[in-house]
Amino acid sequence: MARSTSRRRTSRAPRTQRLVRNPKIVGFALVPNIGVLRQTFAGCLKKAQRAFPDLGHVGFEVNKDAGDAGRHYAYCQQHPNDSLSITFAPKAARLTQKHLLGLMYHELGHAIDFRYPPRELTQRIGSGIPSERERRADEIARRTFNHVIQYDPKIGFVQCVRCHGVSPRPRGLR
Ligand SMILES: [Zn+2]
Repeated sequence: MARSTSRRRTSRAPRTQRLVRNPKIVGFALVPNIGVLRQTFAGCLKKAQRAFPDLGHVGFEVNKDAGDAGRHYAYCQQHPNDSLSITFAPKAARLTQKHLLGLMYHELGHAIDFRYPPRELTQRIGSGIPSERERRADEIARRTFNHVIQYDPKIGFVQCVRCHGVSPRPRGLR
């Protein structure tokens, strides 16, 4: 009995070490699933391109600098060569699908806003788009994706869809 106990212990010890040291397993346990982010984004971008066939490519990036300790998970950029990209914080992968869609629709609203001059945008999706940048992104997103962008007070007013959040975007939200 003593022998079998000690045998078990020695056979288990190296396996535990291997578990800890195997970067794949550590990655699986601690690093958010970026594949889900990428896949969800690809679906959202396809919808945006269906509504705006000449929108072109919008790059997908993942970088810790897109997140903070608060409510920020992503940002949209127009680069000097006019290309567009949206950068997500890895922690965005932990959001629910409803929040992820709200976040991505909102950021793609910015991308569309960056891509087209205001007058052209009005010709394409109609007048009455707010002038304030953030509410503008939400209204463009609503007309593009047919979903009202809501803000979830339960998790720091992160965007969401069909989530009993508040809409329009609360004033003063950074
Ligand atoms: Zn925004």
